[in-house]
Amino acid sequence: MRVQSAEFVISNTDVNKCPADPIPEYAFIGRSNVGKSSLINMLTERKNLAKTSGKPGKTQLINHFRINNRWFLVDLPGYGYAKVSKKLKNTFQKFITDYFEKREQLVCAFVLIDIRHEPQKIDLEFMQWMGINRIPFSIVFTKADKLKPKAVERKAEEYLEKLLDDAWEEAPPHFVTSSANGTGKEDLLAYIDNINQQVIGK
Ligand code: GDP
Repeated sequence: MRVQSAEFVISNTDVNKCPADPIPEYAFIGRSNVGKSSLINMLTERKNLAKTSGKPGKTQLINHFRINNRWFLVDLPGYGYAKVSKKLKNTFQKFITDYFEKREQLVCAFVLIDIRHEPQKIDLEFMQWMGINRIPFSIVFTKADKLKPKAVERKAEEYLEKLLDDAWEEAPPHFVTSSANGTGKEDLLAYIDNINQQVIGK
């Protein structure tokens, strides 16, 4: 799939004000600085669709973009730097958990993980919460260009093994990406396209 059109629709903090169009929706979420804006811009071939770090703006909002008049791409706020022993409720703003609990159009969330880092408590807790709430998600490893290919493979494997140790029965689908060189773009878009075809047909 190629992104032919990408238009900004609305930003807000209230799931009830998200667009009503019954089209499949994919949400992107991760720690601040994980490379979310860069990934969204890479996927959509737009320089500034999502605002990259350092630029003021829509960072603490639910941002809807309509892609190819067929699906929504949702840019969610980056979550904070981990503070030990805080409950998830306190860590994630209520409007984000509300969004995941109520948004019927959501077919898959992409949880972004910086491939270079050891598994972080906040990401693991978030994925656990997603699992408990039965919200389908995939892992998107970012910044793969920063490591050698062998190290990328090893890091991804270690991460998924950690999830299995954490009582997951099977690892979620995962993608290795780099916004710097386009790695993973085709795979991720094909994955979305495939789900779209199942949900809405050709
Ligand atoms: P966000 O806060 O998650 O939206 O992260 P940004 O997309 O703003 O990226 C944070 C920083 O990481 C910026 O300095 C980006 O240039 C850098 N970055 C993002 N993605 C990549 C990548 O794939 N490769 C490399 N080398 N740097 C990246």
